[in-house]
Amino acid sequence: MTAARIDPGFRTIAMPDGPAPEPLSASMAATRLAQFIEQYPRLLVLTGAGISTHSGIPDYRDGEGGWKRRPPVQHQQFMSSHAIRQRYWARSLIGWPVMRNSRPNAAHKRLAALEQQGSVPMLVTQNVDRLHQRAGSESVIDLHGRADEALCMSCGFRTSRDEVHEHCYQLNPAFRSFEATAAPDGDADLETEFDHFTPWDCPKCGGILKPDVVFFGDNVPKPRVETALNQLQNSDGLLVIGSSLMVFSGFRFCRYAQQWQKPIATLNLGRTRADSMVDLRLNADIVETLSVLLNE
Ligand SMILES: [Zn+2]
Repeated sequence: MTAARIDPGFRTIAMPDGPAPEPLSASMAATRLAQFIEQYPRLLVLTGAGISTHSGIPDYRDGEGGWKRRPPVQHQQFMSSHAIRQRYWARSLIGWPVMRNSRPNAAHKRLAALEQQGSVPMLVTQNVDRLHQRAGSESVIDLHGRADEALCMSCGFRTSRDEVHEHCYQLNPAFRSFEATAAPDGDADLETEFDHFTPWDCPKCGGILKPDVVFFGDNVPKPRVETALNQLQNSDGLLVIGSSLMVFSGFRFCRYAQQWQKPIATLNLGRTRADSMVDLRLNADIVETLSVLLNE
């Protein structure tokens, strides 16, 4: 299967033809980024998986924007199939602790420092790991939700992810002993029989519990998108960090920035879907570049 045919719901966008931008040293990238920030001091920053890989959280996509692994669970499948939910929660018992135990890296901390300096009035992230908040950033929009909480799809009951997992372990004690490789978004590469796995249902109404993340195939809630776009409209420009912008959910920020004549910069190892639209393309290591930037 190719990335284009899988279509993860928020719409996969084809990578434009043409060569990847030239890789830059961190010091070169930091110098150019510093100039961009000086020229456009109030930036909206959009971050993606690339910023969290240094924290040990696996990324879905390679440098060309293709899938590195089996695509993640689809919203409709999760909602309609008990078997998919069995598989999801069983695998997530192994995958989630990796995300929960991860720590913010230097890039998250640099962005929190930039916020304190007034350069990043608002941060929009496609990540669900809450590492920006844990690094000290205060104005963050979790575009795709947060993996550390779960909610009932019928009555809205909300609880922590840890609580759900504790109940799942109590219902399925055999799963305590499984080990597997962790995958993005709290998933894991566990292949076993899931037929006997009992997911924990909503304690209030018996409804389906789902992590509070926007699964592929679902839409980002409208008010959340509007808040983020308002921030973009009030900013001097857009800085994308660690995202290949392969899904429309992130790519649309570039579309709007272009429409509103806001300059766009990208800091990403590899190509992005917006390469042909941006004013400053920095193909460089994120953590090193931001570290040099702050040190200067
Ligand atoms: Zn409920």
